[in-house]
Amino acid sequence: MLKYKIVFTLMKYDYEIVIVGAGASGYSAAIYAGRSGAKVVVFDRGMGGGLTMEAPKVENYPGFRSIGGVELMEKMKEHAMDYAEMKFGEEVKEIKVGKEGVEVVTDKDRYFAGAVILCTGTEHRKLGVKGEKEFQGKGVSYCATCDGFFFKGKKVAVIGGGNSAVIEAIFLRQIDIDVTIIHRRDELRAEKALEKEAKEKGVKFIWNSIVEEIIGDEMVSGIKIKNVKTEEKKVIKVDGVFVSIGEEPQNKLAKQIGLKLDENGYIIVDEMGRTNIERVFAAGDITGGVRQIITSAAEGAKASLASMPVIGKRSPY
Ligand code: NAP
Repeated sequence: MLKYKIVFTLMKYDYEIVIVGAGASGYSAAIYAGRSGAKVVVFDRGMGGGLTMEAPKVENYPGFRSIGGVELMEKMKEHAMDYAEMKFGEEVKEIKVGKEGVEVVTDKDRYFAGAVILCTGTEHRKLGVKGEKEFQGKGVSYCATCDGFFFKGKKVAVIGGGNSAVIEAIFLRQIDIDVTIIHRRDELRAEKALEKEAKEKGVKFIWNSIVEEIIGDEMVSGIKIKNVKTEEKKVIKVDGVFVSIGEEPQNKLAKQIGLKLDENGYIIVDEMGRTNIERVFAAGDITGGVRQIITSAAEGAKASLASMPVIGKRSPY
């Protein structure tokens, strides 16, 4: 009886596991699900790789002393493609969860699956000041690796005080750019080792200051900043502004499904990536936590294993 039930279940799904998002967690989930014998598809509205694609260098992923973000994600993609179908450039618009399975509606088609793993990650937080939107691509950037080269020999401001801001500032210094970090407090959130390296490499700092406006004509020509302690305002001439003030969860689908989110908008999961709704799992940065490539990969693996019983496969966990 059980045997017939499993065969029927296998036949009725287009895919047993649908993974949304092809970053570290998505690729890892795909590898684990595929290796458990599931029929897997990964959707990504872009070309995949997630935010790691923007990392100039990754030096804390075991097995790779130093590797470019793009190269690491290419390797993960190739690996995942051995076990899953990849649908790049296809965006998941809606997910309907039923008793028998999950209907996944994309901008191209609709699919029926046994379970879905959301690996939708985060997006760059915006400053929300005048000029930011207007000058995006005209001097305002959220990715030093992608756009840094256009500013070779010029002057830029990096906004933020976390690891990303400092790593981006160091990267920009390497391509002969005059870099000033503008941070809203008087100490960095970034690791001390990074701060030391930035100072050694000639990154300048303006403390206790916020950006009030990004100004320019065709292209960015400067920023208006305010010292939050003295209230003093001034204009700094720069050719570019790299905004690096953290990330926000891409939780549109999670909200649409009705998943429980924490106060910052991240999906609440148990230690195996299970959400409050059966057949829906989540992994990686969308679940908050420490948000590292290695933890995302680990979470993808766990969610994948936890999803196996839903499609009638055994999981040792
Ligand atoms: P983050 O650690 O959250 O830092 C964001 C920075 O932006 C903070 O300094 C914050 O200031 C500032 N900020 C936030 N909102 C702002 C606003 N509206 N205006 C001005 N400044 C604002 O973000 P992240 O650097 O992108 O890093 C995200 C996560 O990835 C972190 O967990 C980080 O450790 C990790 N990461 C790790 C590595 C690595 O090599 N291990 C590399 C990159 C990122 P306050 O400090 O005042 O809050």
